[in-house]
Amino acid sequence: MVYEALYTRGRPKTLSQLIGQEHISNALTRAISSGRLSHAYLLVGTRGTGKTSTARLLSKAMNCDRVHDAQLAGRPLDKKEIPCNKCDSCRAFDSSPDNVEFDAASNRSVEDVTRLLSTAYLAPLRARIKTFIIDEVHMLSFEAVNSILKLIEEPPPNVAFFLATTELNKVPMTIRSRCQVLNFRLIPPTVIAPYLLTLARRLSVGLQEEAAKKIARLAEGSMRDALTYLDQCYAMADKEITLDDVNETLGLISDENLDEIISAVKAKDRTAVGRAITNAFRSGLSANVIAESLITRLRDIEFDMLDGGNKNFVELDNFIDALRKSAVEMNGSGIPDIILEMTLMKLAAPIQNFVMPVVSAPISSPSENLDAGRKIFYDTAEKLIGEVADARFIRDKAVVTGFINETLTVAFKSKFYADMLVKAQKDFEQLAAQVAGKTIKLSVVVDEKLPPPVLNNMTEPARSNLANSMEILHAVDAVKINN
Ligand SMILES: [Zn+2]
Repeated sequence: MVYEALYTRGRPKTLSQLIGQEHISNALTRAISSGRLSHAYLLVGTRGTGKTSTARLLSKAMNCDRVHDAQLAGRPLDKKEIPCNKCDSCRAFDSSPDNVEFDAASNRSVEDVTRLLSTAYLAPLRARIKTFIIDEVHMLSFEAVNSILKLIEEPPPNVAFFLATTELNKVPMTIRSRCQVLNFRLIPPTVIAPYLLTLARRLSVGLQEEAAKKIARLAEGSMRDALTYLDQCYAMADKEITLDDVNETLGLISDENLDEIISAVKAKDRTAVGRAITNAFRSGLSANVIAESLITRLRDIEFDMLDGGNKNFVELDNFIDALRKSAVEMNGSGIPDIILEMTLMKLAAPIQNFVMPVVSAPISSPSENLDAGRKIFYDTAEKLIGEVADARFIRDKAVVTGFINETLTVAFKSKFYADMLVKAQKDFEQLAAQVAGKTIKLSVVVDEKLPPPVLNNMTEPARSNLANSMEILHAVDAVKINN
């Protein structure tokens, strides 16, 4: 027996089976019960959300004998009986010459459309109502749209049109204004996963809950994608579809492995980062797939944090930004693995591995929050270095001398380095705003008398010792030490 795809078997047979679009199935049930159906519908939504399925259900229901009887008797219908799927008309629907379906993407010209719609003016052969389902209607040529428009404006008796589109903005207003618009929503994973489990049970397919959840997340709102993924996993799985089957079949990295990388970066543990990324590469995945999966995983974590009321996303955003940049860099590069590894290593670097000299620069006053200013400056400089390698000169040569009212004063001994920062000022201020979570204005000054930032390149414990002595000593003495 030829295997029938779950996608086909999972297709809704009645309005009650239309998953995740209850606002539509409810409205349509009321409209059908009271005989207030329109002769033209525009079904709008992302692929795989149920547009064509709904158009077929409606076409079938418009011709269903039992629906018709209920309408005549004034009996309200239940979603489960729309359509009945039992009457002669329902059973003949799939091969009915009175239901015409076509894809506008491959029948764009006015000739195609005229040919396909040519029977609209003829009475239906067997059905009560002749139905036309046109997919991707935004792809039609201007002339083709006009020929459809004419039919919708002055519809022949007993004809109904279902126009489906993924891009409402490309559908001319003339069409939109003459159709009843049905907006299909993205189906949330919390709705897709239970449906997959129910469907699997109904079809005696073993499916683990974790596997269903993973597929539901990957489907990004599309039931069709979810069922296609489930089909692929089913073909490869042994008895029961497990999370590992999903990862393996769809070429994904496991969540544990992703979390291992993320935790290592967060803990600033470069050895652990190296181990985790090696593990990931060992499973045969490409750097691109790993980077993409990391971004998706981080986004999930960010959403979870949002739900938990947490609003500090600076670290996460930096992580995602860095991965995004490295993904771009990887494209067309011969060393994608190394680029990803270096990006993660950089992220795992200690945030501030040097202490700024505690020079009492003349501009500062006690009310200033110099420490906060320094932190913002160095965190921002690190980010800038990620974009412009030369920015490390700025970091190494700068002395933060003031931070008042969101203005960060940065002094340089030499005009040459000061100019470097002035050139990058706009970028710096943008990054600084991300780091600080508020607007930061940069004021760059040249002060030839400024003590050189000697501590930057010193190692511990000499660095701490010197920093301490400088705190005790007067700035003038500090200059003397340096010279
Ligand atoms: Zn029927």
